[in-house]
Amino acid sequence: MAYNESAYESIYFFVDYPERKKYDTTGKTLYSGSMDLVFTCVTDIHIGSGYRDFTANNKKILVQEVIRMNGKPVIPGSSLKGVVRGIAQAVSKSCNPDWKCKKVIEDRCITCDMFGAMGFGSKVVFSDFVPEKEIKTVEKELNVQFGPQKNKDGKKGYKFYQTVENRYDGAQKTQVELVPAGSEFSGRIFFNRLTEEELCLLTYSLSLNTAKEEGINLKIGGFKNEGLGEIKGRCTDFNVNNDLKKTPGELAAGYRKQNTAVTKNMNDIEDCMRDGD
Ligand SMILES: [Zn+2]
Repeated sequence: MAYNESAYESIYFFVDYPERKKYDTTGKTLYSGSMDLVFTCVTDIHIGSGYRDFTANNKKILVQEVIRMNGKPVIPGSSLKGVVRGIAQAVSKSCNPDWKCKKVIEDRCITCDMFGAMGFGSKVVFSDFVPEKEIKTVEKELNVQFGPQKNKDGKKGYKFYQTVENRYDGAQKTQVELVPAGSEFSGRIFFNRLTEEELCLLTYSLSLNTAKEEGINLKIGGFKNEGLGEIKGRCTDFNVNNDLKKTPGELAAGYRKQNTAVTKNMNDIEDCMRDGD
C-alpha cells in the first residue's frame, strides 16, 4: 500500500539506543509502596479493542471500537505499562535491540530490573485504569495509519510521536470510536523494592515531572499520526515505606541527575513530547 512517507516527518522522531549498563541494587535502600494516579486525556484517544462493529445510527459503517471492561472504556494496565517502559528504556542506560540483557538473573539493566524480563518478575504492577465519570465516546473519520519502522538514514532508534499540531492527510479513511479529550481514568501502580533512582525513573516515565519545560505527555493507543493519544498523569496519593520524604514530582525531576540518566535522550523527548508549560 502506498503512502507518502514525507508526510510523517514532522510527526514522529527517533532517539538513539542508549549504551546498556548493568544495574546493581546491592547495598541500596529499597522502597515499596503504591501510587494512585489519574490520567487525563489531553487529546482524544483510541485504544482499540480489535473489534469493528456497525454503528447504532443505521449508517452501516464499520467502526473501530475502543477497548472496554464491564461496558466502560478503560486504559488497560498492560497498555500503560508498555508506554511507560518505552520511555524508561529510552532515557536510561537500558537494553535495546543492539545491546540486550542476556542473563537477566545476574546481569540486567535498570529497566529490566524494574519492569521484568524473561525469567525475572516485574517489580512494578499496573492496575487497569477506569473512568471515574461516565464517558461518552465520539466517532470520527480518520486516516488509515502507516509508518516506517526506521528513520530516514536507515539508522535504528526508538520511535516516538511528537506533540503535534499538523496532521497527515492520506487517502484512506476509517471510522473510529474515540474517548474524547478531557476524559479521566484512575488506577493504581504498586512497586516493590525499588531504589530511589528507580523511583525517579518510574515517576519520570509516568509523566509526573511538573518542572517547567521538562514535563511530557505520554502517547498511547492508535492514530498517533493524527495527534491522538496524548495523556498526562498526576499522582493523587503516594504511599512509600522507609521514610522517603519526596513527592513523585520531585522524584521525577530528580531523574536527570541519576547515574543511569541519558540526558540527550531526555532532552529530545522533552522537546518533542512537551506538555505545553
Ligand atoms: Zn534490560
